Amino acid sequence: MIIYVLVGVAGLLYTLWVFRSYRITQQRNKLIAHGILPSEYTQILEKQMPLVARLPEQQSRRLKGLVVAFLDEKSFSGAGGLVITDEMRVLIAANACLLLLGREKSWYHGLKHIIVYPEVMIKMQRTMNAFGVMEEKKIALAGESWSYGCIALAWSQTKHGATCINDGRNVVIHEAAHQLDQADAQGDGCPDLDGGFNEWAKVLGRQYKKLVKQCQVGEKSMLGDYAATHPAEFFAVGTEYYFEQGKRFKLLYPDLYQQFYGYYRVDTATWEL
Ligand SMILES: [Zn+2]
Repeated sequence: MIIYVLVGVAGLLYTLWVFRSYRITQQRNKLIAHGILPSEYTQILEKQMPLVARLPEQQSRRLKGLVVAFLDEKSFSGAGGLVITDEMRVLIAANACLLLLGREKSWYHGLKHIIVYPEVMIKMQRTMNAFGVMEEKKIALAGESWSYGCIALAWSQTKHGATCINDGRNVVIHEAAHQLDQADAQGDGCPDLDGGFNEWAKVLGRQYKKLVKQCQVGEKSMLGDYAATHPAEFFAVGTEYYFEQGKRFKLLYPDLYQQFYGYYRVDTATWEL
């Protein structure tokens, strides 16, 4: 008898959970499609994030809807005495949502909270160098992403990423790419692909190995040494360049660009940045 009661309760809880998830998704989709960004937030974007004005009209409108939904769901806190402002919330939301412009059904489901530090964070970190040797050293982090729903960002670097739109360096884009990659708790440079896994693995695997070899012989590359430390970093750094230097990215890595385009579904090589 008890087992039937337990099964019944579990079934009811599951039904409530499905219903609640459905309502949340409906509410979010409504905000993305019809949400109005307050005029003071629009002014922040116009003044501090020049990329928005250069987006095609449809993408600019969708980005603003995504920002409304992002701000509705995600919480922020300051660390090191930093007080969170609207400017911080809006710029972080807008840069993170760039990655969802072409991905109609994607969302940062796992991301709950963003911690903002005034400056870069100094930490000891173990990383594998281009020669495959683990090293422990003190590093300055502009951001960090965890699979349990949190990212940390340095405000100084975040602001730079928003205002300087074509240098290939954008910490919010970088950590947001990690969040998409970590959605399956793997963090392996392979986000949820909706198919085409073999081609993705083949192209990214080949380009990653090529980059590691370039680093080993000290050869300069667009993506740089940090992208060669792990496939997840390769994907995150690649995403920064894909959104900030699409034309150059396509020219130097046409096969990689094709894979990123298949995933992000935004032709950034056509953006005039
Ligand atoms: Zn990273």
